[in-house]
Amino acid sequence: MPKLLTKSKFLNALQCPRWVWYAVNRPAAIPDYNKKSQYLFSQGNLVGEYAKQLFPDGITIPCSDFKESLQLSKQQLQQQKPLFEAGFIADGCYSRVDVLIPVGDKGWDIAEVKSGASVKDIHVMDVAFQRYCLSKAGLKINRCWLIHVNNKYVRAERLDIYSLFCRKDITGKVLNCSREISGRISNIKNTIKNEQAPVVNPGSFCTRPYDCPLISLCWKDMPEENVFQLFADNRKGDELSGNGILKQENIPDDFHLTRLQQIQKKASVEKKPQLRKKALSDFITLLQFPVYFLDFESYSSPVPFFKGMKPYDQYPFMYSLKKINNWEAEEENFIFLSAPGRDQRDLFIKRLVNDIDKQGSIIVYGKDFELKKLDELAGLFPAYRSSLEKIKARFIDLQEPFRRFDYYHPDQAGNVSMKKIVPALTGHDYRKGIANGYEASLGFFHIAHVSKKKDEIATIINRIKTYCCSDTAGMKKLLFLLKDSITF
Ligand code: SF4
Repeated sequence: MPKLLTKSKFLNALQCPRWVWYAVNRPAAIPDYNKKSQYLFSQGNLVGEYAKQLFPDGITIPCSDFKESLQLSKQQLQQQKPLFEAGFIADGCYSRVDVLIPVGDKGWDIAEVKSGASVKDIHVMDVAFQRYCLSKAGLKINRCWLIHVNNKYVRAERLDIYSLFCRKDITGKVLNCSREISGRISNIKNTIKNEQAPVVNPGSFCTRPYDCPLISLCWKDMPEENVFQLFADNRKGDELSGNGILKQENIPDDFHLTRLQQIQKKASVEKKPQLRKKALSDFITLLQFPVYFLDFESYSSPVPFFKGMKPYDQYPFMYSLKKINNWEAEEENFIFLSAPGRDQRDLFIKRLVNDIDKQGSIIVYGKDFELKKLDELAGLFPAYRSSLEKIKARFIDLQEPFRRFDYYHPDQAGNVSMKKIVPALTGHDYRKGIANGYEASLGFFHIAHVSKKKDEIATIINRIKTYCCSDTAGMKKLLFLLKDSITF
């Protein structure tokens, strides 16, 4: 079978020619997409299924058998009804369309369904590819639509599918892109015909707009402390690497770096952590015992599943709480985990208020998120407002000394997230099971609203519990490390 250019490979090519070459010629050499991508895929599918309800007389073309799906797509055109996932091949290109809508003599409208809340340039290119492929296959294409989630919609008791989605006419934008599309497709076809993968120097584009799955291959020779890790700045990495400078320690002295980036470079040159002991000491003296370590886990969904929620609102499904009465005391642990698929926000607060005593510092990592969640919960359940306000007033943000680089370790790679800082500073391995909060959120979403497999649900719940507790364990280790660093 000749090498087909599919829509997803076309989009890979727009980001990087090397990516599409591997996708077509060496798919087995591409490391597996991580869990994040898998769960994102299941969120996208879920939105697609809901969007089908906008076209009640639509027909779904099954796609388990490629040839049969192509045949059925052609046959069903006669029905003059909306078709979901119809697939067409022409000129070496293959495209499936989310919704193909009949418009009488004018032919067909293309509608692409996206789980995001706005139209992006990449969506327009996506639809331009579909339009090219379908036109070459002999279909008369009229208008092009993007159906995306309406992030202003607030769910009542029942989900209103017509308010959940917005339909945007992107025909003009697609026609603009269509002028250059055949040239682009012919360049991509030439790239994938080559015996060898094109040589491309990695850069910040490797994660924009999508995380390329080949990063572990292409970046394997990148120095440990490289210029792409400069804090809060991707463009400097591209500029420096364009001049052949990859190591932070080789950044010229006259190259402008912010104060925090200069600390990073110094840590890389001296190969040791950089500390501001006075600032760390001030932070430690803020603490009052008993000290609590608190971490929330939440997920967001394009489809709001519970009353009062908007698309992408964060639903808090879990907290982990650890308590110590003094520096030497044994810790006490508390955990709350919602039942998957049930709205238990009221129980979440009730248990939280009950688990936390009336005094002592409450340590969180990146307090904005926890503060926002508590504000939302107080709005939903006013009876708890006063208790939640008192809890908020006792928050101490452990991320602050790290955000200010009062403590910076070269292994942090310019990153102040828990998943980078904890292993860098304490050697605590986060990469077992669930690797980060994002993956925990998507995993819980998956068992709450997608998977009904008991063994999968049990596995994910176990991983999430371990992960969430390891975040509070990580916070405790970080706090002890800061305390020890000012006394030695
Ligand atoms: S990692 Fe970067 S350079 Fe390598 S294929 Fe992906 S996008 Fe291209």
